[in-house]
Amino acid sequence: MEIKFYNTLTNTTEIFQPVESDCVRMYSCGPTVYDFAHIGNFRSFLFADVIRRTLEFFGHKVHHVMNITDVGHMTDDANADGGGEDKMQAAARRVKDDKKSGKVPEGAVQNPDDPYQIAKFYTDAFLQDAQTLGIKVAFESDNILHATQHIGAMQEMIALLIANGHAYVGPDAVVYYSVESFPSYGRLSGNTLDRLLTGAGGRISDENQANKRHPADFMLWKADSSHIMKWDSPWGMGYPGWHIECSCMARKRLGRDVIDIHTGGEDLIFPHHECEIAQTCGATGKDTFARFWMHARFLMVEGEKMSKSKGNFWTVRDVLEGRATGTQVHPAVLRLELIKSHYRANMNFTKKGLLDSAGAVKRLTDFRTKLEAACGGKAENVDLSYPILKEFAEALADDLNVAGALGAILPWASSTPSDPAAALGALDRINDVLSIAPLGSTSSGAVQVSGERAAIEDLCHQLDEARKRKDFTAADGLRAEIQKQGYDVKTSPNGTIAEKRLA
Ligand code: AMP
Ligand code: ZN
Repeated sequence: MEIKFYNTLTNTTEIFQPVESDCVRMYSCGPTVYDFAHIGNFRSFLFADVIRRTLEFFGHKVHHVMNITDVGHMTDDANADGGGEDKMQAAARRVKDDKKSGKVPEGAVQNPDDPYQIAKFYTDAFLQDAQTLGIKVAFESDNILHATQHIGAMQEMIALLIANGHAYVGPDAVVYYSVESFPSYGRLSGNTLDRLLTGAGGRISDENQANKRHPADFMLWKADSSHIMKWDSPWGMGYPGWHIECSCMARKRLGRDVIDIHTGGEDLIFPHHECEIAQTCGATGKDTFARFWMHARFLMVEGEKMSKSKGNFWTVRDVLEGRATGTQVHPAVLRLELIKSHYRANMNFTKKGLLDSAGAVKRLTDFRTKLEAACGGKAENVDLSYPILKEFAEALADDLNVAGALGAILPWASSTPSDPAAALGALDRINDVLSIAPLGSTSSGAVQVSGERAAIEDLCHQLDEARKRKDFTAADGLRAEIQKQGYDVKTSPNGTIAEKRLA
């Protein structure tokens, strides 16, 4: 089946084929770790996870990497030059307050003036949240790349760009990329140099103009010995620009000049991704960096982008623990909520939406329980000729139409299939991509704490044994234990069933 994805680079939906048939190489811009990632950020990260899982569903091997920005992302990042202060610097001030208010636990970030401690705290929190939501790359430490651990490679790339005429050292000791050396600048975003010059309204900062050959030239390295994080370099003690980290780490870890897919949220198209292309192509001499550029539209709150700087955000923990909507939900519910609208449409975060998702997850979970009971839990392997799987595959191959896929799956989940083993096999394959039926077999990749299902199954088994022995005290204790772990306990002809409470 042909897979089609919308490519921001060409503004068209194209058939996806990897550069090399053995493996899809994919890079996703990850979080800036100066605060908790919010659920808007996670919309972008989950979008990348669904791309990866979809490709795997269709039989591709995928090498997916994601960066952690722990230096160089400035507070005014809307212009190509960056500006303001490093977000890690701003965090150092805020974390002191957050420790007083309890948002950052007292024992964590012992020294808020140490940006490495701040970065570590929020990186750990990010990875934990990402794992909770079933984002596969978050389980692969080799594929999570920290900018501060690749400074040497960034310096090599910058030196190469200077050597081949794409970069220069300005009179202010900043290394700039020369956008005029790269005629394709603007191809991704439409912000070509002539358009930028004729008033793209705030796209180009006035700062540093005198030091640059072209107003849109952007920073690769800045000598600044007062910066919160700094390294020695041929251009003075200082720090790298935000854009260079992604160009450098993508090439280094994926091992190719041209990769298959690059993802991020829509705000990264310009300047971040435009600048990444200029840098990578400048260094490799190729005319392509990523074949497919894919971007998720924003998660909104009351008509505004959810963002850290506006303060109108909810974290994953806020939602799961009920602070966002007054209702606690299972991670699969939040995952579904954040993937169910088409990634190229803005979505609004609402309590109603979340509760609808809780209903859908419950329906799928009940369906699984019913199928497992009917076939003794033994799923049959099914291929894409199986009707529901065919519909599911067609929807996903059509530029990740998750909403369309759900439109087929949810009515099916209300039916009573005559072939429960095959239906369970189909549900497992669907869940390998969507990961929204949390009581699935552990091999399905469903959202769940690793080993949780096995442990709960063991408790159910012990409860059945206690009942058989008529040891009702033990049975009551086991029932209470299962309930304490967030499950409802039901009795079926096949023994005890534990159902995860979803909301
Ligand atoms: P940051 O931590 O600011 O570097 O952002 C991490 C990722 O989240 C980037 O890919 C952003 O484009 C994306 N992002 C930020 N805000 C939103 C939002 N409200 N909805 C969807 N994606 C977002
Ligand atoms: Zn990036």
